[in-house]
Amino acid sequence: MSGAFCAARTLAELRARVHTWRASNERIALVPTMGALHEGHVSLIEAARRSASRVIVSIFVNPRQFAPHEDFSRYPRDEANDIATVADAGGHLVYAPVAAAVYPPGFATEIRLKGPAEGLESKARPHFFSGVATVVTKLLLQAEPDVAVFGEKDYQQLKVVQRLVADLSIPVGILPVPIARAADGLALSSRNVYLSAGERARAPLLSATLRAVAARLASGADAETACAEGARALVEGGFAGVDYLTLRDAETLEPLAQADRPGRLLAAARLGAVRLLDNWPVRPA
Ligand code: AMP
Repeated sequence: MSGAFCAARTLAELRARVHTWRASNERIALVPTMGALHEGHVSLIEAARRSASRVIVSIFVNPRQFAPHEDFSRYPRDEANDIATVADAGGHLVYAPVAAAVYPPGFATEIRLKGPAEGLESKARPHFFSGVATVVTKLLLQAEPDVAVFGEKDYQQLKVVQRLVADLSIPVGILPVPIARAADGLALSSRNVYLSAGERARAPLLSATLRAVAARLASGADAETACAEGARALVEGGFAGVDYLTLRDAETLEPLAQADRPGRLLAAARLGAVRLLDNWPVRPA
């Protein structure tokens, strides 16, 4: 089969295509997404194309990573537009499974995580990474890609996935992709559509604050002080609250008192009812 674009709904359809590609020695990349695709996802597809000859984009709004009070039912969905976006970006196959292809009746398995999954997002969303790890493991076993592509936008998720595939010996390379941002610095996100015009205008303060705190840390500032001041600046700038703004080891995500090794500033802050995530690299002083 040529590189012509197509969509699969069932595991059988996915595997038929993957087996055809394998038979002709194609190198296969998987880009897992929840749809509502934007330029950030496009940069993942482009990275996938540079690293593989066939690119599968999965679109699945995973119910297991949403708590009952979260936005599962109103999460933005626009499948026709997403399929066009994948085709335009040079992807070869959209895997948009029906729920039963991922969670067949009687499904009773879940993955428990420690290490990089502890704290940060897990504090506000205790079941989140178990849901992510379960669906990522399924998608990797279903598609059997050579490489899977994840954005640094969800930095803790990236570290959880890297740990997961190492710990479970899943034979796939994980390719991280830098954060795609709007011209004013706001990290692109499917949930940015929830921002009102006023909130959207204030939102770039998050990345600007992270950049400023990262610069202070790189010149030797105490992390607790610099992060507390950054959080205060966000609240003064109109954010409703800061769930965390913290310096972590870039690999293990353990807390750092100062930037004496490669670190990552990680933040989650609320603007009105919208929770924004962002992060910034911190190089040692
Ligand atoms: P989502 O559809 O939001 O679950 O995201 C699917 C993948 O796209 C994840 O690996 C995200 O980290 C990645 N992603 C989302 N937004 C961005 C962005 N602005 N820049 C880079 N990657 C992103």
